Amino acid sequence: MKTEAVYLHDSTLRTLNTEIESCQAISSLPENEQALAKNVAPEHSALTMHRTIFYPQGGGQPSDIGIIGPADSEPSRFKVSLVRKTREGKILHFGELIGDAHASSPFTTGAAVVQKIDAPTRNYHTRLHSAGHIVGVAMQLLFPEMKKVKANHAPREAAMEYEGLLYNEHKPLIQEKVDELVRQDLPILISWSEATDLQTDDTQDARDGPIRVASIGGLDHNPCGGTHVASTNLVGAVTIRKISRQKGVSRVAYEVPLEERE
Ligand SMILES: [Zn+2]
Repeated sequence: MKTEAVYLHDSTLRTLNTEIESCQAISSLPENEQALAKNVAPEHSALTMHRTIFYPQGGGQPSDIGIIGPADSEPSRFKVSLVRKTREGKILHFGELIGDAHASSPFTTGAAVVQKIDAPTRNYHTRLHSAGHIVGVAMQLLFPEMKKVKANHAPREAAMEYEGLLYNEHKPLIQEKVDELVRQDLPILISWSEATDLQTDDTQDARDGPIRVASIGGLDHNPCGGTHVASTNLVGAVTIRKISRQKGVSRVAYEVPLEERE
C-alpha cells in the first residue's frame, strides 16, 4: 500500500502521530523490498505506517534517521537507520527494535505510534540539498550550455556533475556566483505542476498526478521531492571544495557548515 508522504507537503515537521501498518523481519519481505535494505543488518526489521515524515533516500539526498515509539510511554522503541521508498510509493523504515520491544512487540497493525526524526541530521541534509540547487543555479547562469548529469547531496560527497570540462580556474567564478545567490537570500519555493513536459526526478512516483517543483528566486524550476530551506541565506556559507574531471564530465564538489546560521 502507498504511504502518505507527509514530508512532501510539510518538511518542517519533526514529530508525527500515526498508526502501524506492518512490522516485518527483513527476511520476510518480498525480494524487491529486501533489495532496498542493503547495508542494513539482516536481523533488523521493517516498519510501514499510514503516513510518514521520514525522508526516504532519493534524489541525491540521504535518508532521515530517528525513533518510532508507541504513543503511550512503554519503554520500547524502534530505531530507524534507513528509509527507502518502493516504486509503488510504499515507504519502508528499516531499523532495530530496542528496549522491551522484543518481548511483546508494540508495533502491531493499527497500533498508535509517534515518529521523531533526528532534527540536526535532517536540517543538515536539507541545507546540503538546498546548496546543491544553489550551485545548480550558479552553473546555469555561468555555463548555460553545460548539461547537469548527476547530483549527490550526501555529507562529505556532495557534488554536482556536468557534461563538459571545467578547471580549477573556474572555481573562484563559481564560488563568487554561489556567494552572491546566498547573500541575496532568494526564496526557495515549492509548487505543484500539472505541466506534462516536466520529467519527474527519482524521488517522485511514476506520473499519476502533479509534479512537485522547487524554484529559487524564479531563476530555475526543478522537479524535486527533496527537503529545502525557505531561502538561500539559510544554507550558510557554501564552499566550492574542488573541481575534477572524468570522461568528459566535470564534478563540482561543495559543502556547507554543520552548524546552522544564527
Ligand atoms: Zn530539491
